[in-house]
Amino acid sequence: MQAQGELFVVATPIGNLADITQRALEVLASVDWVAAEDTRHTRRLLNHYGIKAHLISLHAHNERQRGEQLLERLLQGERGALVSDAGTPLISDPGAVWIARLRQAGVRVTPIPGPSALVAALSAAGLPTDRFAFEGFLPAKSGARRQRLAALRHEPRTLVFYEAPHRLLATLADMIEIWGGAHACVVARELTKRHESFVGETLDEVLSHFQAHPDQVRGELVVLLGPVKDDGRAEGVRVERLICQLLEAGVSAKTAAGIVAETFGLPRNRVYRQVQALKSGDLLQ
Ligand code: SAM
Repeated sequence: MQAQGELFVVATPIGNLADITQRALEVLASVDWVAAEDTRHTRRLLNHYGIKAHLISLHAHNERQRGEQLLERLLQGERGALVSDAGTPLISDPGAVWIARLRQAGVRVTPIPGPSALVAALSAAGLPTDRFAFEGFLPAKSGARRQRLAALRHEPRTLVFYEAPHRLLATLADMIEIWGGAHACVVARELTKRHESFVGETLDEVLSHFQAHPDQVRGELVVLLGPVKDDGRAEGVRVERLICQLLEAGVSAKTAAGIVAETFGLPRNRVYRQVQALKSGDLLQ
């Protein structure tokens, strides 16, 4: 009988090279190969720990084809590891399609947990952590970004976003339009690195801070927003959220109104007017 292959999904540091687990080092040193987003980047990490591994490039653009080749090797009984440039693979990083494929093919997939910027940011930002939603990167284009944010405007969980520095000020300005300047916000910068900082506590304060310190609008950033308190408009909030989600998914106003009216047992005409208002941005003010 053939030996069972195994793929380890290994978290690596998000800045400070010491943030890697003993188990991660043991796995990286013992596997037949390490599939890495950027092999040069991962080589530097492995060199730091004196690990000689066979590195194979696996990134968003070759995930399908290279992934099939590596699946074959795993089915032959090899042991492999997947790493990304930083943090936990698959978290705003490639690999999700491949891991689903491996599971479907019956390959054992084992996580080796470790750093992730989203958890590090949440753990020290001082915002509620009992419930949170990770939104990853927002759309780069302003219109799409505003629409995504509008769909979240009644979100009762803490929201976590990854953001590129050159979009930070525009994103904060969009957030102020939707939640108001007094809404709770923390930006976590350069986590685990020399210039790590947390800036908060409201959207107005955070925007003013970065406008006054353009030298800090760089590096790696996590933006966190506090939850919206339930003000008793629960159904209205759910109706509006579903409308925004449907519009964002490209559903027509008419179909969206039909779905929402059906879901909540509401008059179709009334919902249609609300859909139109949301679509034209009237309710985004
Ligand atoms: N897989 C990674 C993880 O587990 O956090 C995320 C990869 S994603 C391509 C990169 C984004 O994560 C950055 O643009 C930034 O928003 C966030 N990030 C990564 N490292 C960070 C750090 N040291 N400090 C703050 N944010 C960081």
